[in-house]
Amino acid sequence: MKRLITVLGSTGSIGVNTLDVIRAHPDRFQVAALTAGKQVDRLAEQCIEFKPAIAVVSEASDAVRLEKLLLENNIKTQVLYGPQALVTAVTDSGCDTVMAAIVGAAGLVPTLAAAKAGKRVLLANKEALVMSGNLFMQAMKDGGGELLPIDSEHNAIFQCLPNEFTKAPHSNHGVEELWLTASGGPFRNTPLDQLASITPDQACAHPNWVMGRKISVDSATMMNKGLEVIEAFWLFGLPLEKIKVLIHPQSVVHSMVRYRDGSVLAQLGQPDMRTPIAYGLAWPERIEAGVAPLNLTQLASLHFSEPELARFPCLALAFAAAKAGGTAPTVLNAANEVAVAAFLGAGLPYLQIPAVVEKTLNAIALTNADSLEDILSMDAQARKVAREFIQVLQK
Ligand code: NAD
Ligand code: MG
Repeated sequence: MKRLITVLGSTGSIGVNTLDVIRAHPDRFQVAALTAGKQVDRLAEQCIEFKPAIAVVSEASDAVRLEKLLLENNIKTQVLYGPQALVTAVTDSGCDTVMAAIVGAAGLVPTLAAAKAGKRVLLANKEALVMSGNLFMQAMKDGGGELLPIDSEHNAIFQCLPNEFTKAPHSNHGVEELWLTASGGPFRNTPLDQLASITPDQACAHPNWVMGRKISVDSATMMNKGLEVIEAFWLFGLPLEKIKVLIHPQSVVHSMVRYRDGSVLAQLGQPDMRTPIAYGLAWPERIEAGVAPLNLTQLASLHFSEPELARFPCLALAFAAAKAGGTAPTVLNAANEVAVAAFLGAGLPYLQIPAVVEKTLNAIALTNADSLEDILSMDAQARKVAREFIQVLQK
């Protein structure tokens, strides 16, 4: 039986890499639905190649244009638009597997729908889990599907844990700590007094990984690693104190698990997302991913060090939000999305990103994150507050 796959965010960096792996295995995988925000031309090309049952874009006008492009090529894909159509792509496309690769909070509702519907969920969209950890993990349990982490660090940890661990994390498997590695991004060694004038293009020039612009900025500020600590907390169910971050500039060791008996298990590989994507698509089998073999003798050395919290205030803010719990991670994520968008598109200075996040966290009274309504309403409130801070800063 072929796996039938919906790719949420198929035109992005993860989406394109996912289709690259799918393309190499037509005997195993078939595309059920593809979704994109605004990139109509790229989505049209993908539909012509993969012939999904459903394609989704954000806006009605883009749906009209996509429909026209597909008609011209005699493609019978049903074209839908808007947030609810993302859920339809999950629930009504006949898929058994969902690659959750929309960036940011926009991915939460369809990813949650995949969890509830018992799909195999390949989770790249870490913001969805950060916003709704408890609710999302409960939805996975209720739905009875499989959750496979695609974020390279979490995929590495998943590979280094015994299979039973993810089902019963609190039982006695001897796991002492999870070590998330981080490259440190492009400004790991930049003198602190030069950070004020960083431009979006400088922040997006990641030394090892090619990624979408939002996660590239998050990697530069290390908010990405902060979000990943929260992601690991929910995925693997260990106390926060047992989740550590290590700077590892070469991005070869993708993360590690330290066991009680002194063993440390690591997963190594090229910094190429097709490895975790192929792992998630084919699990528990392993398939060709199109990734060059790792040649250890060509590596000069591997370094590891502690992150400097003074250089990366976003990491400290994420640790604090994780510790506070409830809707603190929701607020952290929303404020960060707004601040990063303002940095990328509206001239907010780089060093104001952590300032906006911190002010927003301090300005909002936190609550429990018990329902989707609570989470979405907190997300909206945090975005509003963050935008107000940015407006004041830019006056
Ligand atoms: P990207 O910006 O390249 O792609 C994002 C995708 O989401 C695109 O298809 C875009 O059209 C779609 N999208 C954006 N806004 C939308 C909206 N409002 N409604 C519907 N669709 C929308 O991002 P990416 O780098 O592929 O990252 C995707 C997710 O995977 C992020 O959550 C990121 O943190 C995570 N991730 C990415 C990488 C990586 O190497 N790129 C690694 C680990 C985790
Ligand atoms: Mg990662």
